[in-house]
Amino acid sequence: MYCRRILSGLILLISLQASSESRIVDNLSKAIRYQTISHQNLNAIDYGAFLNFHQFLETTYPRVHSQLKKKIIADYSLVYIWQGNNRALPPVLFDSHYDVVPIEPGTEVDWEYAPFAGIVADGYLWGRGALDDKASVISTLEAMEALLAEGYAPERTMVFSFGHDEEIGGRDGAANIAAYLKNQGLNFEYVVGEGGHGCPWTSNVARKPTGNDCSGRKKLCNANA
Ligand SMILES: [Zn+2]
Repeated sequence: MYCRRILSGLILLISLQASSESRIVDNLSKAIRYQTISHQNLNAIDYGAFLNFHQFLETTYPRVHSQLKKKIIADYSLVYIWQGNNRALPPVLFDSHYDVVPIEPGTEVDWEYAPFAGIVADGYLWGRGALDDKASVISTLEAMEALLAEGYAPERTMVFSFGHDEEIGGRDGAANIAAYLKNQGLNFEYVVGEGGHGCPWTSNVARKPTGNDCSGRKKLCNANA
């Protein structure tokens, strides 16, 4: 998708500039190893893995965690607010999620590479969440950390949300994130995310909600990813 290509291009640019491509790949590989699996049966969810993933993010992205405002939503979703210099400009929201869908029981042996090993082979990084959607989470955080290291100060406030239950509808994560952002009085110029179809809480956060294309103004959640 267009937005993902932007993020991919951004992460590639950072990689070239800082010669840090292997480190970024390594961080995404590590992220995949956290089994942040959503289940329709909430009792089957290992929330310890989600909290361990939080700890991994804190350790890996120290500038983000020391310089941006962080808010934990519904115990496991994360919101970071990077205050811009020009408060007259409406903020923008970058949304992604770090939960993944389960492995079909009995298919473990069918995987070319173990789904939670984060293996790099054949020129690819393999694993559950490599595309959907930990690549977005990690590339976003890598960009944030690199920009903070450069001393970058945005004109426009940027908000980053990382949901924990998108794969089962986002009713704890995205819904409460939207409620929190609305309560903060944030009225976004646009929202960048995975895209997708109808989402009941989209109108709570976007000034100009549009269709399902990836044209720059995006919906908050993805109902089918
Ligand atoms: Zn997704």
